[in-house]
Amino acid sequence: SLTDKLGQALRNLRGVGKLSDENMADALKEVRTALLSADVHFKVAREFTERVQAQCVGQEVTKSVTPGQQVVKIIHDELVRLLGEGTTQLSGARPLKIMMVGLHGSGKTTSTAKLGKLLKKRGYRPLVAACDVYRPAAIDQLEILARQEELGFYADRNSKDVPAIGVAALTAAQTATADCIIFDTAGRLQIDADLIEEVKKLRARVQPDEVLLVVDGALGQEAVNVAKTFHDALSLTGLILTKLDGDARGGAALSIKSITGVPIKFVGTGEKTGDFEVFHPDRLASRILGMGDVVSLVEKAQETIDEKEAEKMAEKLRKADFNLEDFLSQMQQVKKMGSMQSIIGMMPGMSGVALPDDAERQMGRTEAIIKSMTIQERRKPEILNGNRRQRIANGAGVKIVEVNQLLKQFQQMQKMMKMLKGGGGKKMMRQMEA
Ligand code: GDP
Repeated sequence: SLTDKLGQALRNLRGVGKLSDENMADALKEVRTALLSADVHFKVAREFTERVQAQCVGQEVTKSVTPGQQVVKIIHDELVRLLGEGTTQLSGARPLKIMMVGLHGSGKTTSTAKLGKLLKKRGYRPLVAACDVYRPAAIDQLEILARQEELGFYADRNSKDVPAIGVAALTAAQTATADCIIFDTAGRLQIDADLIEEVKKLRARVQPDEVLLVVDGALGQEAVNVAKTFHDALSLTGLILTKLDGDARGGAALSIKSITGVPIKFVGTGEKTGDFEVFHPDRLASRILGMGDVVSLVEKAQETIDEKEAEKMAEKLRKADFNLEDFLSQMQQVKKMGSMQSIIGMMPGMSGVALPDDAERQMGRTEAIIKSMTIQERRKPEILNGNRRQRIANGAGVKIVEVNQLLKQFQQMQKMMKMLKGGGGKKMMRQMEA
């Protein structure tokens, strides 16, 4: 398994010069698939990868990562930029008026209470107003949550006149000296014209500072239509993405953001009123890409692996004059990146893979063996006869069979590299890149 681990390190060292359409193709394909399976609208996914491709071609590849990893990193950064555009802050003088809109079941009522709780923590005195006149249960639900969080509450169970209820809520807020009013409006299973008309009227009457669309994070491709309709009618000021505690990857947010430009302001991460956070674009980007943590792997590699050193090593590999001294320094580079297990854990699809318990110890032993050799021996391992091997084993505190094993592995590696150098190794090279 030492060879496997080394293989990984070597992959990171291959001397790919620049990103090109060819060496990026696979990575881009993977990313597009990741976006689609995260429910990103196909048009958005296509435009996004095309733009990233145009950006990537011609870029220098950091020698210590594969082009694939580098592309993922560029895509991640672009995704963070796109998702993070605009402000997550709520704007408006006190009393701050916020209108919550969205489809039925998106988490509107829950998010109304969650937002009230969060604003209360920030020093506001919030009042929540029930403007869903079609479902008495929704009014009750909001009342229970408001009482639980000690928020002001307004409802008029006898009225069906939503704009009038809104205005009455403003008066009630004034009386109660509340300085923040959150209107929970009605939702439907699907967008319909009557609903939109009603919410538009309410908006005109209460003049909210913020109109926030609540979107279920698991909403698929239709997210775009939902958001567009609401945005065209109401000029949304922000999005709240809910149910991010589930399996949903939240791709709908990217589609909505790309098409409407409306910033994401908060995310819901559970059923409890405390499960609510200010939006962090980097977290959502990693989630949408579903790429394990390639990004931090790339960052780590860029930080710790010495570029010049890596270049020298790549050159040696090309010439197949890699010796045990190089092997040692290679191993030390890998060690600088952190524990083997944590590096493996950051690789996509590998997070569940456990290394044998003694992998790290093995590496330590290998290091000790090489360190017990003279410089000459490291450079020309073929001079290692029985006597020398025994001396090295004693020096490293290991059995001579371990020294033999290491030398055998090393010979195999050298053979492999000679094959690559011979030019017959295209297929092998490809395997190493995989
Ligand atoms: P509304 O019809 O849009 O007002 O939706 P509700 O607020 O009634 O929420 C619908 C369901 O989704 C309820 O069972 C909520 O508990 C649940 N819900 C809302 N937000 C979240 C969330 O962030 N995570 C999870 N797991 N459930 C949520």
